[in-house]
Amino acid sequence: RERDPDQPEFLQAVEETMRSVWPFIERHPRYRDMGLLERLVEPERIITFRVPWVDDQGRVHVNRGYRVQMNSAIGPYKGGLRFHPSVNVSILKFLAFEQVFKNGLTTLPLGGGKGGADFDPKGRSDAEVMRFCQSFMSELYRHIGHDLDVPAGDIGVSRREIGYLYGMYKKLANEFTGVITGKGYNYGGSLIRPEATGYGLIYFVAEMIKPKYANMDGLKVAISGSGNVAQFAAAKAMEFGAKVITLSDSGGTVYMPEGLTDEQWDFLVRLKNELRGRLSTFAEEFGFEFAADKRPWGYPCDIALPCATQNELDDRDALALINNGCFCVAEGANMPSTIGAVDCFQAARILYAPGKASNAGGVAVSGLEMSQNALRLSWTDGEVDEKLHSIMQSIHTTCMHYGAGKGGYVNYVDGANIAGFVKVADAMNEQGIV
Ligand code: NDP
Repeated sequence: RERDPDQPEFLQAVEETMRSVWPFIERHPRYRDMGLLERLVEPERIITFRVPWVDDQGRVHVNRGYRVQMNSAIGPYKGGLRFHPSVNVSILKFLAFEQVFKNGLTTLPLGGGKGGADFDPKGRSDAEVMRFCQSFMSELYRHIGHDLDVPAGDIGVSRREIGYLYGMYKKLANEFTGVITGKGYNYGGSLIRPEATGYGLIYFVAEMIKPKYANMDGLKVAISGSGNVAQFAAAKAMEFGAKVITLSDSGGTVYMPEGLTDEQWDFLVRLKNELRGRLSTFAEEFGFEFAADKRPWGYPCDIALPCATQNELDDRDALALINNGCFCVAEGANMPSTIGAVDCFQAARILYAPGKASNAGGVAVSGLEMSQNALRLSWTDGEVDEKLHSIMQSIHTTCMHYGAGKGGYVNYVDGANIAGFVKVADAMNEQGIV
C-alpha cells in the first residue's frame, strides 16, 4: 500500500488473493521464505510507451501503451491486451496479477502478463483502428515473442484488432510465429478460441451446480456485458437449456423475461461485432425493456454471470441478487465483484466462483492455440472443445481440493487462490531469488 497508494484496483486484487493465501502460509511456513510474497506482487517488468497515430481528419493523437510482464516462473508471459479509455497501470497490474494465478490453474505452462492502451476504439473507423494498432505494435514487437510473451485480446481488442496487430508484428519481426493468440483461423488461430471464455464459464457452472442440478433446464441466468464473453456464455447457457434474461453494455441493461432466443442471439452478435451497434438498438428491435444506466442485478434469477468489467457488482447488488433467489454467481469478467460483494455471497453461503477459476477457459484455449502453432497443426473444433471442457472440469476439481470445507460448502476463492499460488510459488522457490 505504501509503495502503490494510487493503484486501488491492484491493491484490491492483492488483498482479495492474500485473504486466502495468508492463512495458508501460516499453516505452511516454508512459503514465508525467500521474499516470495514481495516478489509475487512486484512485476518482473513494466514497459510504457508512446503510441502516436493520425485520425481520418489528419489530426495527430498520442495514447499511452503498456505491457506488464508480471511473472514468468511457469512459462512465457501470457495475457490479453485491453484498449479502453480507463486503462492505466493500476488496472493492468491487477489484471496481470490475476492472470498469474489463473494461468497456474489451467494445467498449461503459461506465465502471467497484461497490456493495452488508453485508446477507445468506439466510433473509430477501421482505418483509424489499423493505424493505431500498427503504431502500438511498432514498439511492442521488440518486447514479445512466442517463447517470451504472447499477448491476446481483451476488452476492445477482438479479431479485427488482433489481425492488424499480428500483421504489423509479422512485418517488423520478419517471421511467422504464434506470437499472438485469438488470430483468424486462416492464419493460425484456433477453432473455439472466440467461444472459449464463455463456453468455459458455463462448463464451470455446470460443475458447480451438479450436486443439485443435473442440467440447466429452465434456470434463469442474468448476464452482464454483451461482448465476446457475454455472447458465448449466453449461447452455451441456452444450449444447456437455461433462459438468458439479461444482457448489458455501458449504456444500460436489456431485460428479456421469456429468455433470449437463437434468432435474437444471431441479431445481437451481428449488431455488436459487425455493425458495432449499441444494446439499446437490440432492445428496440425486439420491443424489450431497456433500463438505461442500470445493471442487471435487480432482476430475479437463479444464476448471475458478470461478464463486462471490474467492480460492476457491489455489496448492494449482491444483496439484491441473494434476496431475489440467486444461488450461484460465476465470474466471466475479471474481478467484477467488489470485496464487499464477495463477502455477501460467502456469508449467504451461495455458490460463488472468482474469475481466475471460472473464466480461465479463454487463456486455456490460447495455450492450445500456442501448441497448435508450434506443431503447425490445426485441431478440429470438437477436439478443442473437448480439451476445454476437461480443463474446466480439472480447474473445478483443483478448486475443490483447497476450497471444500466442513458442512459441504465450497469456498472457490480459497480453492483458486491457494492452488494457483502453490503452483507458482513452488516454481519460483525452485528457481532461486531472481
Ligand atoms: P468486449 O470488449 O468484447 O466486451 C466488453 C463488454 O463489457 C461490452 O458489452 C462493454 O460495453 C461492457 N463494458 C466494458 N466496460 C464497461 C464499463 N465500464 N461499464 C459497463 N459495461 C462495460 O470484452 P470481453 O467480453 O472480451 O471481456 C469482458 C470481461 O471478460 C473483461 O473483464 C475481460 O478482462 C474478461 N475476460 C475476457 C476474456 C476473453 O477471452 N475475451 C478472457 C478472460 C476474461 P460497451 O460496448 O458499452 O463498452
